[in-house]
Amino acid sequence: MFENLSERLGGVFERLTKQGALSADDVRTAMREVRTALLEADVSLPVVREFVKKVEAEATGARVTKSVTPGQQVIKIVHDALVQMLAGEDDPGTLKIDNPPAPILMVGLQGSGKTTTAAKLARRLKEREKKRVLLASLDIYRPAAMEQLAILGTQVGVDTLPIVAGESAVQIARRAKQMATLGGYDVYILDTAGRLQIDAVLMDEVAQVRDAVSPRETLLVVDGLTGQVAVEVAEEFDAKVGISGVVLTRMDGDGRGGAALSMRATTGKPIRFVGLGEKMDALETFEAERIAGRILG
Ligand code: GDP
Repeated sequence: MFENLSERLGGVFERLTKQGALSADDVRTAMREVRTALLEADVSLPVVREFVKKVEAEATGARVTKSVTPGQQVIKIVHDALVQMLAGEDDPGTLKIDNPPAPILMVGLQGSGKTTTAAKLARRLKEREKKRVLLASLDIYRPAAMEQLAILGTQVGVDTLPIVAGESAVQIARRAKQMATLGGYDVYILDTAGRLQIDAVLMDEVAQVRDAVSPRETLLVVDGLTGQVAVEVAEEFDAKVGISGVVLTRMDGDGRGGAALSMRATTGKPIRFVGLGEKMDALETFEAERIAGRILG
């Protein structure tokens, strides 16, 4: 198990409880613990370095009030800096879906939870915002994935684009747009094909789909347990396709969510939602406070 940062810092600062301000030495000692805690939480090394540097500057010389110990003071500074770094948009859960029908493109690696998230999102838009939603799978390589989306669509009471064999991803996207326009839908969500690893063919295909429909939102779905890989995936998709936000799945697992911080710091793109389970209602708006608390342990 992870050792919690409060415990670590508690130990480091035990001898210094009575001190009035944090000295450069105290802070340096504390930062070693912060660094280890962040690395254990799977935050990428360059981001850890940048973060520690920032917090170190902020903490040095900070007054320690009587009501808290120096350890608690450092934790507060670290926590606030994490929240600031993680926070993206004021309202990450509100998607840009005016001008119906608004296309939303779901992208990501195979197994990241893309199809599940597409259906969860459709359910959320239908239930909370009373939108008419159309779901379409562009995964021409895996007929089972298309069928899975149709099953999930039925489960959440959202229409799916009828499956037609032999079409290209772009053709399916155009058909979805047409059906959404003619059928009076507010939103159509395109679930693109994933691969086990990033490859040029996949990126080209997603870029072509993007050009065909001009999505209002392009959401990258990443497995929150994959730390370093998540950062590479986010950088690659953002460079080749352009993303408007990230959905972190499997945040119901044991992971500490360091990927959230790394992706945010590296790509600058906001985390919009988190997936908290396999069920269709297990999708929540991203909250920086919650993830910060989790990263600190
Ligand atoms: P895709 O290949 O990216 O479309 O991935 P799927 O949507 O098929 O998801 C792969 C597996 O991950 C399925 O068994 C999902 O039920 C599961 N899954 C998706 N999101 C979550 C999540 O937030 N938490 C958990 N525990 N499982 C998830």
